[in-house]
Amino acid sequence: MTQHFIVIGNPIEHSKSPQIHKAFAEQVGLDIEYNRVLCPIDEHYESFFTTVRAFFCGGGVGANVTVPFKYAAYELCLNHGDMSKRVALSRSVNTLYLDEHKQLIGENTDGAGLVNHLKEMGWALAGRKVAILGAGGAARGVFFPLIDAEVEEIVFANRTVEKATAFINEFTEYAPLFLNPDRKHMLSLKSCPLDQLEGEFDIIINATSIGLEDTGKNQLPLSENLSCQYAYDMMYGRELPFLQHFAQKGAKVSDGLGMLVHQAALSFEIWTGNMVDAQIVLQQMQRKYS
Ligand code: NDP
Repeated sequence: MTQHFIVIGNPIEHSKSPQIHKAFAEQVGLDIEYNRVLCPIDEHYESFFTTVRAFFCGGGVGANVTVPFKYAAYELCLNHGDMSKRVALSRSVNTLYLDEHKQLIGENTDGAGLVNHLKEMGWALAGRKVAILGAGGAARGVFFPLIDAEVEEIVFANRTVEKATAFINEFTEYAPLFLNPDRKHMLSLKSCPLDQLEGEFDIIINATSIGLEDTGKNQLPLSENLSCQYAYDMMYGRELPFLQHFAQKGAKVSDGLGMLVHQAALSFEIWTGNMVDAQIVLQQMQRKYS
């Protein structure tokens, strides 16, 4: 019997999730349908909630959630479902499914997907100084997996600095309850305005949604005194001025296609119980799209 999956977002036409999940299904011999759903953005996310309810009431197995609905998915699970404490603290859900009691469960596989991709590329994380540009769902979602990977410092730099600062304060208060007690490194958390981020980092991760804008001016206001060994852009599938900027300064760079494939592999495992080889699918996607 065909199992049905969707990815909900706005915009959504750029999403490569259908191809990725169909490749996973082929690997393990499952019959699936995976479709993109463009959902209107309304003030209280009514259209999003209706879309999710209709999908699961109609027998859907799993839904991925992308920009700008990860917070809405968190709210839905908070009020009508369940999620782990870590996901609740991140306030960002990218994977939805029903458990055996038909209760809606929210997960976030973005952070673990990012860390799996960084490790696959040999970008060491333990003891490293990391800057994350952005304080939205994607930035919040990668927090726990990065600290599980033993990074030593995270600076969140955001256009609206108050959001990054509130985020740091909240994590400083509650996150220690959910940290691995065997952590070897002290953890330093800071926030600053995006255009005031300066200094030398091991890794800088662009988790802003500037790459989705079609303004033709999608260049972040970065200081000339900012440098790194490695630069990672969560965006993929288009020209990325952020990566060009740091490549010119001698950094190793990567777009977010690998993160996408790895987070998808983790969602697929949650939904179907099947582990897949993400690296093979990433190579297929890179051949097709680069
Ligand atoms: P959100 O809408 O939750 O957050 C957007 C963030 O980007 C905010 O911090 C916002 O700052 C910042 N931002 C938006 N426009 C600009 C701009 N012009 N200049 C500076 N900062 C800006 O989005 P998400 O966090 O969910 O997603 C962020 C990006 O990550 C998207 O491009 C998404 O596609 C990508 N992503 C990729 C994944 C992958 O698997 N490769 C997985 C998850 C996300 P402010 O607070 O000031 O508004």
